[in-house]
Amino acid sequence: AAPAISTSQRTYELDRAHVFHSWSAQKSLQPMVVERTDGCYLWDGDGKEYLDFSSQLVYTNVGHQHPKVVAAVQEQAAKLCTIAPAHANEARSEAARLIAEISPEGMDRVFFTSGGADSNEHAIRMARLHTGRYKILSAYRSYHGATAETINLSGDHRRWPNDYGNSGAVHFHGPFLYRSEFRSETEEQECERALEHLETLIRFEGPAAFAAIIVESVPGTSGIMPPPPGYLKGVRDICDRYGIVMICDEVMSGFGRTGAWLAIDHYDVVPDLITFAKGVNSGYVPLGGVIVGEKIYNSFAERPYPGGMTYSGHPLACAAAVATITTMHEERIVENAEFIGRTSLGPGLRALADKHPSIGDVRGLGVFWALDLVTNRETREPLSPYGGTNAAIGQTMAAARDAGLLVFNNYHRIHVVPPCTVTPTQVDAALAMLDTALDVADSYYDG
Ligand code: PLP
Repeated sequence: AAPAISTSQRTYELDRAHVFHSWSAQKSLQPMVVERTDGCYLWDGDGKEYLDFSSQLVYTNVGHQHPKVVAAVQEQAAKLCTIAPAHANEARSEAARLIAEISPEGMDRVFFTSGGADSNEHAIRMARLHTGRYKILSAYRSYHGATAETINLSGDHRRWPNDYGNSGAVHFHGPFLYRSEFRSETEEQECERALEHLETLIRFEGPAAFAAIIVESVPGTSGIMPPPPGYLKGVRDICDRYGIVMICDEVMSGFGRTGAWLAIDHYDVVPDLITFAKGVNSGYVPLGGVIVGEKIYNSFAERPYPGGMTYSGHPLACAAAVATITTMHEERIVENAEFIGRTSLGPGLRALADKHPSIGDVRGLGVFWALDLVTNRETREPLSPYGGTNAAIGQTMAAARDAGLLVFNNYHRIHVVPPCTVTPTQVDAALAMLDTALDVADSYYDG
């Protein structure tokens, strides 16, 4: 008889035979089989343990398999699995209340979707209908989703093969002192010049053309760049001057990630629309949404909003959100994210930068940190090219994984983004593993 293969081996083989993966050339893929997860840990098909400092796609904010969230989904499944969006449902009503409670005053309504991209799609649609305008401004260094509209709003290179020239997206440079487009030397200069650049673009593109400006409150995938203090307020002023709707994309930065409920809490700004997904329920069941301010709500008080989806406010997803948000309050998980960033993760990453020349810049807050890896600190030459990968970053990531650490990689950057529940001991363990991996990046340094 043929030798029996393990469940893990069968999972892998079936994946390779039948699963078509995101973002990838299919043939050479070698996905890791994950058999079990718990808190900040996961285990692969061979039983090897990893510290998950990637939070997967940066969304497991309460960690893996939080027992209160698991129980809430189980209880909701036993009680009422699904109901159409037109009906009122306890889980959805309660989730909306809890989300409104952590939102700025006057932002009291929630339109539920199934994820981040569709949240941005609907925010854009609301802005277009509200203003009667079409064009949208978004940052080059941004990621807003993978639907036809949101991939074109996204600035990064994944837009290129999806750009058919009719999305209405116009891109600008946000503030980013380490790689300043404006030759700034201080945060104040960078803030002022980035705002000037944005306003000039609006004047040259046509001040009456823009329905919305969409910004990630703290840009995530494109490099974790907390904006300088006055920037988001400056964007608000520009929106007010030209009658443009301000959308803050909090899909990655929301629900504790930055050590605040929403990243805008750090910046004292109130947008017209906020989009969210991921951390709202730690991704246990797909959920996203748009938090709608009074102005846009009133636009649809008398006329119908022409949009919806079958799973809008799905009870299982909303029950997971209720349990996640309640648990975050009860266990002071947002406070923990802030504490960890200030006392162990931030200082620990800066200490690694003192030791490893390949770390050009350390940026972040809360449990949302990026290491900008370079081959030369003077020229700030990235360790791998824009839009691509190479042996240097590939081997660095492999070394982290061999050591037992999962971190998030985009181009030449490593994002260190653990669950908001992470402990100082787990941070110390992860920093030691990163220390080993960064020796590989250093070996490519030619400064
Ligand atoms: N917006 C931001 C800021 C994101 O980081 C992401 C996903 O990474 C999205 C939108 C898209 O979310 P989804 O993948 O759920 O469609």
